[in-house]
Amino acid sequence: MVMYQRRVHSWHGVESDIKIINQNWAKLGILPPHPQLVNLIIRKGLERDKNIQMQILHEFGHVQAFPFVFLYYLPLYLSTKLGNINNWFVATLGLFFFWEMIAEIYVFFNDEDYINAYINNLSLYTVFFWVIAVIFIVLPFLW
Ligand SMILES: [Zn+2]
Repeated sequence: MVMYQRRVHSWHGVESDIKIINQNWAKLGILPPHPQLVNLIIRKGLERDKNIQMQILHEFGHVQAFPFVFLYYLPLYLSTKLGNINNWFVATLGLFFFWEMIAEIYVFFNDEDYINAYINNLSLYTVFFWVIAVIFIVLPFLW
């Protein structure tokens, strides 16, 4: 059963179905359902309706931001910093967090109540997630 479904049209032409199965699972387009791990962490403390509303925007943010994901790898690829499997692994983790961050930036700019929602309910889990995310995004560029 799907709790919420929306057909979205991205700026780059990709159309996709966002299916929110429940607070823990979502499905994007032809991809298999995936657990909402990031959502569970960064939305901790927010009320259920706000949580789901932001979750939908976040999933659409992933679609909208998809072309920018390659901009993360490009400088690493050109600098040959991806020389071994460990560097690839760290860069892929960085890519994952980068994609999460730009999807969330999309939520920030499309939810006029974003800051208020967090001012009243900011969880340490949310703060911790973003600290870890920034570390992993920057890490491949430091070696
Ligand atoms: Zn995400």
